[in-house]
Amino acid sequence: MKKRVGLLYGGKSAEHEVSLSTATAVSKAIDYNKYEVYPIFITLNGQWLRGPQLTKPVESIEQLQFNPENTSPNNITEFILDNNSQAQFDVVFPLLHGTNGEDGTVQGLLEVLNFPYVGNGVLASAAGMDKVTMKQLFSVAGLKQVPYVHFIRKEWTQSQKEIIGKCEEELGWPMFVKPANLGSSVGISKATNSSELVKAIEFAFQYDRKVIVEQGIIAREIEMGVLGNDEPEVSVAGEIKPMTDFYDYDSKYKDGSTALIIPAEISSDVESTMKDMAIRAFKILDCSGLVRSDFFVTENNEVYINEVNTMPGFTPVSMYPLLWQHTDVSYPQLIDKLIELAIERHTEKQ
Ligand code: ADP
Ligand code: MG
Ligand code: MG
Repeated sequence: MKKRVGLLYGGKSAEHEVSLSTATAVSKAIDYNKYEVYPIFITLNGQWLRGPQLTKPVESIEQLQFNPENTSPNNITEFILDNNSQAQFDVVFPLLHGTNGEDGTVQGLLEVLNFPYVGNGVLASAAGMDKVTMKQLFSVAGLKQVPYVHFIRKEWTQSQKEIIGKCEEELGWPMFVKPANLGSSVGISKATNSSELVKAIEFAFQYDRKVIVEQGIIAREIEMGVLGNDEPEVSVAGEIKPMTDFYDYDSKYKDGSTALIIPAEISSDVESTMKDMAIRAFKILDCSGLVRSDFFVTENNEVYINEVNTMPGFTPVSMYPLLWQHTDVSYPQLIDKLIELAIERHTEKQ
């Protein structure tokens, strides 16, 4: 029997557009002989809209953006359970990034409804979304990372001078300032002196009540994919070469100015250090399904972990699927594997 897959995409997040491109790509790659595919679109306002079953790839993003006037959004659970509270799908595939998607909230909803779903659970998603918590767990796992300082808005308004002083004392220039809970480089800026630092912090606070300031590092950016549940496997490594000053939102999604080099040119020592760190990061966050681990590799081959992404970019030209393609797992195979892993994890929990 065909498995019924609910594709969940869009979302009330800064990464709404990215999610739509991912959903379009998945609709083009998923095997319709194996799966019945049901789209669930979350609008930017947070409305859930269910569209008709997809039986073939969509031709454009617009086809996946249903009009609220033509559908009747009801209770969220009605998208997932039928009138007799029976599951309408065998598995849900959340293709959501950022807030309310990758941060454990949707995962929590799916847990409560007792649904198998692709990717990371509540804990890993939430811990991976908060850069401060993530870093604290990384240090428990003994993973090398750049020095950082973090604070909440209240602390900033009360002791701006002390915070700037602490950053200058503990971190070297340039500094990277980030909202704790976002992705896709939204709200991130680089500061090269204290007046820029103040501006960067104020900017980051527009996105979150918690901000992290990191010491900037001159390094290559190299990433690895991890796939699995209890015995995760690691892909080949890939390097990103942004042509802009750093890997910002536009270079990620808009201007195509970033080169991806797969496999990355690294020594076997660096590769095995990265593999080991990628697995340790996966385990300390209790990840499942998939994760992309991002590293900084310096000129003298020191490896620092930057972050993990619990729902990495997932279009066929995104790093994560490309890394697996170079590890002999095609995009459609990757979709199959993730669905299998979702069901495996759900069954083991019962
Ligand atoms: P996001 O979760 O939004 O991708 P990152 O922490 O990966 O946030 O930061 C986005 C980009 O900013 C990185 O890919 C890198 O180019 C640059 N960057 C972030 N932190 C540092 C740092 N400490 N040193 C140098 N570059 C950094
Ligand atoms: Mg990220
Ligand atoms: Mg990143």
